[in-house]
Amino acid sequence: MTKAREAYMVIGGSGFLGRHIVQQLLDRGDNVCAFDIVQRHFDVPFYSGDITSIDDVSNALRKSGTTCIIHTASPPAGLKDSSLYFKVNVDGTKTVIDAAVAVGVRKLVFTSSAGVVFNGGDIINVDERLPYPEVPLDAYNDSKAKAEQVVLEANGKGGLLTVALRPAGIFGPGDRQVMTGLYKVYEENKTHFQIGDNTNLFDWTYVGNVAKAHLLAADKLDLPPPAAPLSEKDEIPLIVDD
Ligand code: NAD
Repeated sequence: MTKAREAYMVIGGSGFLGRHIVQQLLDRGDNVCAFDIVQRHFDVPFYSGDITSIDDVSNALRKSGTTCIIHTASPPAGLKDSSLYFKVNVDGTKTVIDAAVAVGVRKLVFTSSAGVVFNGGDIINVDERLPYPEVPLDAYNDSKAKAEQVVLEANGKGGLLTVALRPAGIFGPGDRQVMTGLYKVYEENKTHFQIGDNTNLFDWTYVGNVAKAHLLAADKLDLPPPAAPLSEKDEIPLIVDD
C-alpha cells in the first residue's frame, strides 16, 4: 500500500528558519505551502494570516489540505512588549493546535528554543529531562516554554502527533537578528567588553541543519519511538553550575 503524500504547511514560512524549511521541502519534491503574517517569498502557495486567529489558520489548513504543520512563527527575541510573546507564542500556538485538531491534521512540529531551560547559569551535558528554571530568563523564553508544553500535551489529541525541537543560536544565510546585532556592535565601536573569563561557550547551529532536523522530526513522528522514553530515574551526567 503506498503512503498518502504529505502536504506541509510551514507557519512562519517567510522567516529565517521557516524559509530554509520551505526550501528543503521543495528540494526533495514535497508539497509545501507557507503561512505567515507577512509575505517575503513568492515561490510556494502562500496563506496570509495571524496564528492568533482561528479563522485564518483553519481556512488556510482546509484550503491547502495540510497533513503536517511545521510551526516556526514567533516574535523576535528582545522586544519590550512582553504581552506580545504570550499572545502569539502561547495563545497563537493553542489556536494552531485547535485548528489542526478541528481540521484533522496528523502532525505538528514546533520550534521551541534551548532558552526554555536557561536561567543565566552554565548548562553542560544535559538532556531534555532538565527541568525548566524556577525563574524564566525573560518573557520570550517563558512564552516559548509554555508553548512547547502546550504542544507536547496535545500529542494524541484527535489523532494529532506532536514534537517540539529546541535549537540554540541559529546562524546562516537570511539571518536578520544575530549578524545585524553583531554588526551594530562593531559599527558603534562597542567591541571592548568581555563576558566572564573569556572561556564561555555557546551553542550555534547552522540554519540548514536546524531546518533538516525539522524535516527529520516530521518524517519520524508517526513511527514508533526507537527506544523507550527516558525516565526521570535514569542516570544522566548533569552539571549545572550557577
Ligand atoms: P523570524 O523572525 O525570521 O521568523 C519568524 C516568522 O514568524 C516571521 O516571518 C514572522 O512574520 C512570523 N510571525 C510572527 N508572528 C506571527 C503571527 N502572529 N502569525 C503568523 N506569523 C507570524 O525568526 P527565526 O529566527 O526564523 O526563528 C524561527 C523560530 O525559531 C522561532 O520560533 C524562534 O523562537 C525559534 N528560535 C530561533 C533562534 C534563532 O537564533 N534565530 C534560536 C532558537 C529558537
